[in-house]
Amino acid sequence: MIRNVELFERACRTIPGGVNSPVRAFRSVGGTPPFIERANGAYVWDADQKQYIDYVGSWGPAILGHAHPEVVKAVQEAAVNGLSFGAPTEAEIELAELLVHRLPSIEQVRLVSSGTEATMSAIRLARGYTGRAKIIKFEGCYHGHADSLLVKAGSGLLTFGNPTSAGVPPEFTAHTLVLDYNDVAGVEAAFEKYGDEIACVIVEPVAGNMNLVQPVPGFLQALRDQCTRFGAVLIFDEVMTGFRVGPQGVQGRTGIVPDLTTLAKVIGGGMPIGAFGGRRDIMAHIAPLGGVYQAGTLSGNPVAVAAGLTTLRLIGQPGFYERLEAQTGKLVAGLRAAAASAGVAFSADHVGGMFGLYFRDAVPASLAEVSAGDTAAFNKFFHAALARGVNFAPSAFEAGFVSIAHDDDIIARTVAVAGEAFAELN
Ligand code: PLP
Repeated sequence: MIRNVELFERACRTIPGGVNSPVRAFRSVGGTPPFIERANGAYVWDADQKQYIDYVGSWGPAILGHAHPEVVKAVQEAAVNGLSFGAPTEAEIELAELLVHRLPSIEQVRLVSSGTEATMSAIRLARGYTGRAKIIKFEGCYHGHADSLLVKAGSGLLTFGNPTSAGVPPEFTAHTLVLDYNDVAGVEAAFEKYGDEIACVIVEPVAGNMNLVQPVPGFLQALRDQCTRFGAVLIFDEVMTGFRVGPQGVQGRTGIVPDLTTLAKVIGGGMPIGAFGGRRDIMAHIAPLGGVYQAGTLSGNPVAVAAGLTTLRLIGQPGFYERLEAQTGKLVAGLRAAAASAGVAFSADHVGGMFGLYFRDAVPASLAEVSAGDTAAFNKFFHAALARGVNFAPSAFEAGFVSIAHDDDIIARTVAVAGEAFAELN
């Protein structure tokens, strides 16, 4: 850890908290984050040349494993032809066509550079399309760091939210109604009261930002029904779940069709990209066709598009998701068994290639249940695993990610390490 510690100290002198995105700073688990020098397949190596089996996967994009040779080759070939033009390219059309072809709910799509841009733009579009101001989001879901989305529930039932970040004036979140995930009655009550003022509902259709919480049966359908009934736009934020839980995201798994979808992470294969798309009549309101403004200097960046196209082609091969889901299932089953034999209160869940680990007896269905888990036990487990070369997400409120490079041997070694880590909790 010597060089990691040196680098962290050095980083803290010029970068706030030493990191360019807060969760990387290990604030919730404590300690010094490894500084990564290189990555390949299921592994990352830190500045002290320590190897880790990686379940962060750049927080989702690395579905093929790190530095997949074909993706790297596509990036190199694209880079030789120029890094950015600020003008349309044929490759952008190919990516758009691929997204439209793979996700039936998307008739038209606009590329941006991050998930935050995608959700922010989708919400502006929903407001422009409906001419309404209010939006519904769910506590515990994260949709990037746009002002109106950095909000937690107000104190009373059906009150508008309070900012969760300094620098966000309460006026900016005054139109954001924050409800409990999986609370159908709460959604119905909100629409009963404000139905004709609600522009959209934005939801993580499987929540990966409060650990992993699945929608209870009927929840997503209720969102669909209420939005249809009141003329509001249903936005599935599939930035994390898109091409991660299956070939058509959660919408493919459930058959529930959103009006708009936001994407990022996997569709960029590790390069900065995002996208929002959906019904043609709604997308027609975006500039230059319509009056809802949205733009980006690097949108549709040719190098990012090349990485995304190659990734999407590779994960489109037959059997890809069956294998990804099977490997994730083996990991989760192995961890459960290891915890049981160590006598640790633990449960785990997975959907496609993402998983949740909970230091409590049952899989949670709400943020309150996730929060009731034993965070101290998680933190201890995390560090015991990290010391033995297994890199789980450094927070009890984040999902984990398996790649197609996580083979049986890697999973067996992870489970063995976890067994030792669980044993340390007693
Ligand atoms: N939406 C969801 C569901 C996410 O998980 C994230 C990031 O983790 C975002 C939006 C924001 O994406 P980005 O970090 O690319 O801005």
